[in-house]
Amino acid sequence: SEGANVLEVRGLVAGYGRIEALHGIDLAVGKGQLVALVGANGAGKTTLLRAVSGLIKASGSVRLFGREIVRDSADARVRAGLSQVLEGRQVFGPMSVQDNLLLGGYTRPERRDESLAAMYALFPVLKEKRLLAAGTLSGGQQQMLAIARALMSEPKVLLLDEPSMGLAPLLVREIFAVIARLKAEGIPILLVEQNAHAALSVADVGYVLETGRIALGGPAGELLRDERIKAAYLGL
Ligand code: ATP
Repeated sequence: SEGANVLEVRGLVAGYGRIEALHGIDLAVGKGQLVALVGANGAGKTTLLRAVSGLIKASGSVRLFGREIVRDSADARVRAGLSQVLEGRQVFGPMSVQDNLLLGGYTRPERRDESLAAMYALFPVLKEKRLLAAGTLSGGQQQMLAIARALMSEPKVLLLDEPSMGLAPLLVREIFAVIARLKAEGIPILLVEQNAHAALSVADVGYVLETGRIALGGPAGELLRDERIKAAYLGL
């Protein structure tokens, strides 16, 4: 039922200047669900996440726990429980790992010590390296830091943009293990990935985005077996 959805997007239209990149997107993330959004380069995946998190303007509807947020600022959406990990693991290189995490927790200063302890329990390597400059971490560790920084605001929904991008295969597996752990903790996630096979393998539900439209959607296991998806996105 509608009330069970944590995040609900209806008829979402967004673009850049006069160029419309999304032509009316419908999708939903249910309680505790991991939803994967896959699609080719330029399909509009990043644009969709930006429109949901408020980094670009959009029309249509974005509801968080039933409340309309499509006209709210990005900051208001973070405060309402929506947190985005941007593409390209954008950590602050010269700042320490710990200070990067504390920045992520700015909306909840009263929860600072608890949130920090929770992140160090989830990512022991970040605790080990907490006093080092974030820029000295490996690519995979920087991605973990970017995810942990987003989690510091104790989001009710996490938006993840291409977390495996540019990582070596071993680190890609590590990042997907982290995503599976977040799912096990019950955090609803909207995951954007070009690595369609890995994303659909951990997801509950999947959507395929093609030139600004949802071309297919359904249980992730079914999409993995779908011949059209195998041919177009799984390299099979
Ligand atoms: P990628 O995986 O390459 O990031 P994507 O699926 O995330 O691809 P988007 O980056 O959302 O795709 O791009 C969707 C469309 O919007 C593309 O046609 C792209 O050229 C266009 N676009 C993206 N960013 C901008 C921008 N800042 N200004 C103008 N057009 C843009």
